[in-house]
Amino acid sequence: MHGVKECQLVKSISITHGLNRLGGHSVGGALEHTLEHFRAVVQSSADAIITKTLDGLVTSWNPGAESIFGYTEQEMLGKSLLALFPPDRMTEETQILEQVLRGSRVEDFDTERLHKSGKRLHVSVIVSPIRDRYGIVVGASKIARDITFQKMAEAQLRLTANVFTHTSEGILIVGSDGLITDVNNAFTRITGYTREGVTGKSPQIFRSSRRSLSVFRRMRRALQRFGEWKGEIWSRRPDGKDYSVLLTVCRVCDGAGEIKNYIVLLSDITSLKLQQEQLEHGAHFDTLTNLPNRMLLSDRLHQAMVICQRQQRMLAVLYLDIDGFKFINDNYGHATGDELLVAFSLLMRAALREGDTLARMGGDEFVVVLTGLGSVQDCIELVNRLLATCARPVEVNGNVLSVTTSIGVTLYPNDDVDADQLIRHADYAMYEAKRAGKNRFNLFDAVQDVEVKNRSILQSRIAQGLHQHEFALYYQPKVNMRTGAVVGVEALIRWQHPDHGLLLPGTFLPLIEKNPLCEQIGAWVLESAIQQLDAWRCVGLQLPVSINISARQFQDESFASKLAELLAKYLYVVPANVELEILETSALEDMVSVQKIMRDCHALGVHFSLDDFGTGYSSLTYLARLPVSTLKIDQSFIRDMLVDAGNSSIVKGVIGLAEAFNRKVIAEGVETTAHGTALLSLGCEWGQGYAIARPMAAEQIPAWVSDWQAPPAWTDGQDSPGTKRGANVC
Ligand code: C2E
Ligand code: MG
Ligand code: MG
Repeated sequence: MHGVKECQLVKSISITHGLNRLGGHSVGGALEHTLEHFRAVVQSSADAIITKTLDGLVTSWNPGAESIFGYTEQEMLGKSLLALFPPDRMTEETQILEQVLRGSRVEDFDTERLHKSGKRLHVSVIVSPIRDRYGIVVGASKIARDITFQKMAEAQLRLTANVFTHTSEGILIVGSDGLITDVNNAFTRITGYTREGVTGKSPQIFRSSRRSLSVFRRMRRALQRFGEWKGEIWSRRPDGKDYSVLLTVCRVCDGAGEIKNYIVLLSDITSLKLQQEQLEHGAHFDTLTNLPNRMLLSDRLHQAMVICQRQQRMLAVLYLDIDGFKFINDNYGHATGDELLVAFSLLMRAALREGDTLARMGGDEFVVVLTGLGSVQDCIELVNRLLATCARPVEVNGNVLSVTTSIGVTLYPNDDVDADQLIRHADYAMYEAKRAGKNRFNLFDAVQDVEVKNRSILQSRIAQGLHQHEFALYYQPKVNMRTGAVVGVEALIRWQHPDHGLLLPGTFLPLIEKNPLCEQIGAWVLESAIQQLDAWRCVGLQLPVSINISARQFQDESFASKLAELLAKYLYVVPANVELEILETSALEDMVSVQKIMRDCHALGVHFSLDDFGTGYSSLTYLARLPVSTLKIDQSFIRDMLVDAGNSSIVKGVIGLAEAFNRKVIAEGVETTAHGTALLSLGCEWGQGYAIARPMAAEQIPAWVSDWQAPPAWTDGQDSPGTKRGANVC
């Protein structure tokens, strides 16, 4: 209670003190009025106006103080003002008190006080002594203003200024009039322009050789639409050096939306860009010759193909390989080899036209893309010119070297494939040029290539077919036309294709003639036929089987031993029942080795027949040497023998030859009874053909053998042929 009374006292003192200071008159109503006025000022002030006793107890506390410090008047009256002091500011109170006691005012000083919540506040304080009527200091009045916000703003400003000065990013500020108002140190460091040199000027002064106008147009548009633009540009320093910066340009507007400034931030990315350019160059150009490499070539070729299509012209891809480059490297060393490559590339470059591309593929291989060709002749002329240029002697490291080149050429769109394949085709053609003797060019044959590709697809399909058991052997009977006896069957391969049905050998065997697959199929045929022979033997049918052997199978020196293994496997098969048919033409290809294989096989007990006899040389010398039991007259002679006297004579001749050399003779392609009759009249008794039976599945053979009867015209009205067949049936 004492505190409050005292407080009222101090309040009245303070007011009196204030009034004294205001005017020094105390005159009845006027005084009252002034007091009221004064109280109203205190009450309405946003500043904290506080009075306190000399020992620091609060004697008055206005609403301003309440709003700044959070304590109500009630909470603070009679309480120590120290509640507002942060621990580190406690000593201030003593210093203030000392000054107040000395009767002097503590002028506006910035300090910190605590809000009721504990939050620190920045305040600006004025403390004045309060005197009694005798002039003795009895208390103090304190006016505190909350400057927290102002302090924060100042700190913010300081920070901004610091950032502006010390950041590594260049900053350029442009006024709404488009003129530069300020730049920072980093800006000067990056661009080479000083603050004095650019302020008041337009940013247009930063011209660059590399800068494109379109970038600026884009920047302006983006600023208008979005208020911001970001991008990379090249610019030039006053010393002439180019630099690259990542620019961020922002528009700064005031509250009313009026443009105040443009802030431009620049990050120096020159070294990054140069590094990137170097990398890109390295990725696209050959380091030794500085010519485009494989990657860039592929890119350029793509583009050239598009243009070529649009202009309906031709382009040529040339694959060049220096002949005997290894010799240069080995004899003169790699450094000279490298020099030669450089000299060579310069020579070629000079011989080519402006739009042509010359690329190095690696080693001594180069590719040229010739564009805009009107004809194949145009291309050939250029290629010949290039061949001549490449053959010119060049001086390298004191040596005069002269090399030649082999060039593979392919023409687009004749060779209508993609860019990579064009290069591959030219490469392939180059190898052909090398094989043909070097120092020449070779034109890729696109038509032939399509065939090769189709062939390889079909070959894989055939291999798959073999793997999936899609092949089968059909058997065509061979008979003695005069007696009606079945003398054997010929195994003929068929492909039971899941999509295309039953395929004849003529549709697939030629595709594998020169392929190892031919041997696999041949081995399969050989074993299947022998297996079938064994199966028939088991059901009491002793039927000789003829097996067609391809020329390629006969090049295999181990053929005889493989056959021996098979015969050992099917132990009960009589080797004499196995007849191998080889084409007359293939038997003559390599007489020495064929003769040896035939002899070895013959020694195993198997027989041979010469198939399609008459289509080769029918050389008597060979016939005498080869262990052949039977000659098969080619069906082409049989077919026309009835109408063509020439063919009839050939047939007669072959029959005579067989007789003379003591060989059996059989006619294939006996299509009609009349053919058979004519053959019989010429002395050929054995026949095979549609007039007798078409090739059939193995299962049908036993029934056919027992049912078949020769036409009476052949048997000449003799006994039923069935009785004669008995010789073949066990
Ligand atoms: P090839 O060995 O001369 O077989 C006779 C061919 O004439 C067979 O054709 C047969 O069906 C056909 N033929 C039979 N009688 C007549 C007839 O009266 N008129 C006509 N126009 N043709 C008749 P296929 O089965 O199409 O075989 C064709 C050729 O394929 C064979 O001729 C043979 O050289 C070869 N070949 C067949 N199978 C095999 C095999 O398993 N291995 C090998 N390497 N070649 C085989
Ligand atoms: Mg045959
Ligand atoms: Mg034949």
